[in-house]
Amino acid sequence: MEIYLDANATTPVLPQARAAALAAMSDDFGNPSSIHSTGLKARALMDAVRARAQRLLGTGGGQLLFTSGATEGIQTAVLSALRALRERRDAGESIGSLLLYGATEHKAVPEALKHWNELLGLNLEVRAIPVGLDGRHDLAWLSLQAPRAGLVCTMAANNETGVISDLDGIEQALSGSRAFWMVDGVQGLGKLDLRLAARRIDYAPFSGHKLYAPKGIGLLYVREGAPVTPLLAGGGQEGALRSGTENMSGIAALGAVLAALEDGQTFREPATLARWRDRLAETLLAAFPGLVFNAPLAVSLPTTLNFAVPGLSSKLLLDLFDAADVRVSGGSACSAAKALPSFVLQAMGVPEWQAASAVRLSFGPAVTEPLIDEACARIRACGEALRESCLTGTVAQEGTPLTPITRYVVDGACCWLLADPASRTAVVIDPLPELNERLERLLRCQDYRLLAVLDTHSHGDHASSAEGLRAALPDRLLHGEVDALGWPMDTEQLVLGEQTLRRLPVPGHTADSTAYLLGKGSQVRVAFVGDTVMPGALGRTDFPVSEPLALRDSLRRLADALQPGTLLAPGHDYENRFATTLSTEAAHQPLLAGALNGSLDALGLASAKAEFERGLGLTEYQTMACGARVCSGPEAAPELDARGLRLLLRTHPEALLVDVREPYEQRLSLLPDLGAVQLQAVPLSVLIEHLPEWLALPAETPVVFFCRSGNRSEQAARALRRLGHDEAYTLAGGLALWPQCEPGLEAALYV
Ligand code: PLP
Repeated sequence: MEIYLDANATTPVLPQARAAALAAMSDDFGNPSSIHSTGLKARALMDAVRARAQRLLGTGGGQLLFTSGATEGIQTAVLSALRALRERRDAGESIGSLLLYGATEHKAVPEALKHWNELLGLNLEVRAIPVGLDGRHDLAWLSLQAPRAGLVCTMAANNETGVISDLDGIEQALSGSRAFWMVDGVQGLGKLDLRLAARRIDYAPFSGHKLYAPKGIGLLYVREGAPVTPLLAGGGQEGALRSGTENMSGIAALGAVLAALEDGQTFREPATLARWRDRLAETLLAAFPGLVFNAPLAVSLPTTLNFAVPGLSSKLLLDLFDAADVRVSGGSACSAAKALPSFVLQAMGVPEWQAASAVRLSFGPAVTEPLIDEACARIRACGEALRESCLTGTVAQEGTPLTPITRYVVDGACCWLLADPASRTAVVIDPLPELNERLERLLRCQDYRLLAVLDTHSHGDHASSAEGLRAALPDRLLHGEVDALGWPMDTEQLVLGEQTLRRLPVPGHTADSTAYLLGKGSQVRVAFVGDTVMPGALGRTDFPVSEPLALRDSLRRLADALQPGTLLAPGHDYENRFATTLSTEAAHQPLLAGALNGSLDALGLASAKAEFERGLGLTEYQTMACGARVCSGPEAAPELDARGLRLLLRTHPEALLVDVREPYEQRLSLLPDLGAVQLQAVPLSVLIEHLPEWLALPAETPVVFFCRSGNRSEQAARALRRLGHDEAYTLAGGLALWPQCEPGLEAALYV
């Protein structure tokens, strides 16, 4: 059963609202503008819904227009206020110079202000009202600025944090001002007593889909006497203030929701909701040690929790909750490359890590106690899964065993953990400050000792955190004195079970660049090459500490030390290729090929590189690029939908399906029965371990990767194809679109 805890984004439609919508589409389908009986019935229904809404919202003599949703209501309100301001100004009246909006307002508000301000040629200054750490408006600031404002926009409650605005305080702050006042009531509908007409609010938009009505229906309250400029002109519906045939099924459904609000049966009282919210909060605190709430619960809606957990990104938490079939949302927006911090939390001034890793959990007032109980049980299971993976909690247990090579990546920079489970010894290569706490916890929790914390070179784009990690684990260090890159002074090789790790100097990118070769004897399984060779790039050689003339010999020395299949584990991997080989890179990078085949000498390589690296900009992560990239490899892996997978399995029953989700996700969600299909669980972080075995498969054997949403599996499939196995696929849409069927997947696959 799915536990949907993302009500602030949207809600399911109440059964009685669905029934009302269906009736309005099938039985009472009239157009309320028609004057025959069918039309009159529709009008009566519409009037009844409006009257109910007026009662519930306390609109007094004000108007209530049906709209398509809040974004439309916001446009109409802003257009109306700004046009009136322009008229006042044209008549010689003073209108002030500011258009104010709360800094945590939904984007629809500032964007509408900017849009109409420009379009109407008002050219007032659009300025954000600051908020405090509690998310509430700075009323002293507002009192000072209000006399110069033409329009003030504030929300009833915030969609990300649930923080409830102090509407009475705002009203007081506006007391000396002639400004129009818009209150975005979206998150307050059905949860707050807004008493619209009792306050001096001029406009208040609402949206049906945030309270169990369908998408595409909304309301706009306009205070008695406040100006209205129609956004839509046409057939004259809604008193010519909003033309267009009314969305009758939406109106009927909204009416059913409003009726439920009045009947007192369907929705829970705020006190009950607050009790359940507190239970969820306590469960979260117990499940995720160190968790902090990003807004004070005392001034927040009793249906919203916004939190962050130290060391855990919102992406990780979303994947985790999703695996437990609990739908929550990230409090921050995702750009192509990285999650951006929440602007709402930034405006409140919460610490940056909290703004960057926020998670929002929200439910609607129709929630039931069994659902809250089940949500708490799953949150506990999520916490347990993370403890098993040593991502949170105490050091008392061992958890999921470590895989010999694990890759961590932060903004394109890679850190590698080498572990030998038998001897419980580990090596960290290229540690990153963001990972220190996590690695420390992991190694203690798994009871590992550290052979070394190594850097492949002195990094230009980030500080090495090797010293910090060693200092955090003094009781776990197996060697004493180390050199500048962390190599123990007392040994030439590090022994990891049956394998050894050796050094190979590869000056070029920097004078101290070193490759670490992992293998048995002269057989090298994986070479940790830092930035010397990256997927699609050679390490740049234009730093003061670079040795451009040494690079060619370094590359040739590396080639001599490796076997054809040896995997290269890079120090940077901006495009998520995971690992590569010298021959793959030589096929994509002419400069590398030239260095290896002898057509470029040391000077030739150095000067061609210098030309290629001229004017090298920042990466997509806004970090310094460690090398100039060539376009290198398949840009997208072929996607399979359920039907495509079914067809493929018919012709290739030997195909391999690979679940690339992390162990804590795999632990939480049992996969459907796959019958005879071969299934492997290989978390993306340990993909490198399995690349050789997939590359050794017959060329025609398909490998189909899947994950939660299709994002990680696409990376895996692309990586495998780039290394030469063409039959690598990703399951489009991930498990979210996995064919739902009874009894299990097998049936769906073979139908
Ligand atoms: N205002 C707030 C506070 C919201 O949460 C939303 C929806 O996310 C909107 C406005 C926009 O509403 P609609 O989806 O109806 O356009």
